[in-house]
Amino acid sequence: MENLKQDVLYWSKRLYQKGLMPSTSGNVSVKHDGKILISRSGVCATDMKEEDLVLLDLNGNVLEEGKKPSSEKLLHVLIYETRSDIKAIVHSHCPYITAFAAANKEIDKHFLADFAYCFDKIPLVPYYLPSSMDLAQSVADCFEKYSCALLANHGVVIGADTIQNCFYQLETIKNYVETYFAAEILGGAKMFNKKQIDEIKKLRK
Ligand code: 13P
Ligand code: ZN
Repeated sequence: MENLKQDVLYWSKRLYQKGLMPSTSGNVSVKHDGKILISRSGVCATDMKEEDLVLLDLNGNVLEEGKKPSSEKLLHVLIYETRSDIKAIVHSHCPYITAFAAANKEIDKHFLADFAYCFDKIPLVPYYLPSSMDLAQSVADCFEKYSCALLANHGVVIGADTIQNCFYQLETIKNYVETYFAAEILGGAKMFNKKQIDEIKKLRK
């Protein structure tokens, strides 16, 4: 558990440094040994210390008295319940990714090979009040098919086998959206055709 805590703190710092998790927005969790370790509510990812991580049972009950877990703990709990292969979750308000969420547009256009290799699309979940059961349930429903979701007028969620892979995937999405906006100034990115997308998907292991 000590190593896992250090891992969460390390990758949380990296999330902050890369602009993937500004200010006190967002939250992270990992599932290990039938328990969930989640960031406390209101903590900044780069300032997080071991004591800012809160242990929950798989129903979201706090196992450490006096600690206040992320207000989005239900969202994390329901994703873990839905997907036994997911062992780490990052929820972020990364600005350029959140621009798509703010515009209520899913990310489904393909013009970059690394993005098409990793993702079919980043689907959009309708707006629900942050921290609500409705939000948690609709994100969990989306995770039946995908391992990521844009939350309308809010942010993005990604799940993976490790927090390190959550970081890499979020960074891949961030690079995609930044390239998309920059290419707009140059007249717009040239989209792949279906054959090109299928060829890239075939490279997946
Ligand atoms: P917490 O600080 O409670 O984790 O909330 C941040 C957030 O992103 C809410 O949606
Ligand atoms: Zn949020």
